[in-house]
Amino acid sequence: MSKKEHMLSLAGLLARHVSLFRCPVCGMAMNLANERSLSCTSGHLFDLSRDGYVHLMPNAKPGKYDKELFAARKLINGSGYFNGLLEELFAVIAEHFGPEPAAPLSVLDAGCGEGSHLSALQAHLESRLHRDVIAVGADLSKPGVRTAAKGNPRALWCVADLARSPFQDESFDVITNILSPSNYGEFRRLLANGGMLAKVVPGPEYLRELRQFLYGRQARRDKDPERTAALFAEHFPDMEERRVRYETLLDPRHLEAMLRMTPLSWHAPEEQVRRLLAQSSFRMTFDFYILWGKHFIK
Ligand SMILES: [Zn+2]
Repeated sequence: MSKKEHMLSLAGLLARHVSLFRCPVCGMAMNLANERSLSCTSGHLFDLSRDGYVHLMPNAKPGKYDKELFAARKLINGSGYFNGLLEELFAVIAEHFGPEPAAPLSVLDAGCGEGSHLSALQAHLESRLHRDVIAVGADLSKPGVRTAAKGNPRALWCVADLARSPFQDESFDVITNILSPSNYGEFRRLLANGGMLAKVVPGPEYLRELRQFLYGRQARRDKDPERTAALFAEHFPDMEERRVRYETLLDPRHLEAMLRMTPLSWHAPEEQVRRLLAQSSFRMTFDFYILWGKHFIK
């Protein structure tokens, strides 16, 4: 697809679904001003990128995540290592939304990164539920969103801040939030009545072998899953959870990308990194919790 075709395809998608959006500056409704920009009713203007995404973050600063990081993520995410997780996640979502061919399903991936997971979810739900899926991916990172848009012109990709998200109230049937920070207040505002939030957090053994190899320790030091679950349940009291854990053999050609994409390796001793990259194979544990709950508007 040429850049021109990309932008036209985005303008077409936006024309159909512009009612999902609101201005991130003033909160007013948005319109497609022309093939090149979205505009709110008080005149704030947001350009459509020629790569097929829309930039909806006023005063964006360059992020700490660069192009190489998202290239690494795209390679790893596209190599099947997360399939075990995604199959469970997709099953959880599909169980709650039956086939209803007349009604499209709107899905927001909050913190979509380079977009692989949302694109897989869109394809999966469309074939399983026989419904159109309006897929919207939002992330703070421009290089992430740009990579996503190049890979899948059928979804609406936007650079956006979840704290001031550019979407109207009650716009989404499903919000996914995969290994990315949450804003529960916003998620509740954005979910339609009966809509579902599905969040993925790392379990205690996630990438255990990598941690062990690089630092000689196994335990994760960041927020434990119990605390995250408790916070989730404060906002979604009917929360359910499922742990997904599996081991997989990492292709040695993927070791470098895996190292690049996980923050846990960014401060690792150089000698250990060199030793790791010389391994001919490496077994790794993938361990996650899927938390989900529905939102009902009283
Ligand atoms: Zn505005």
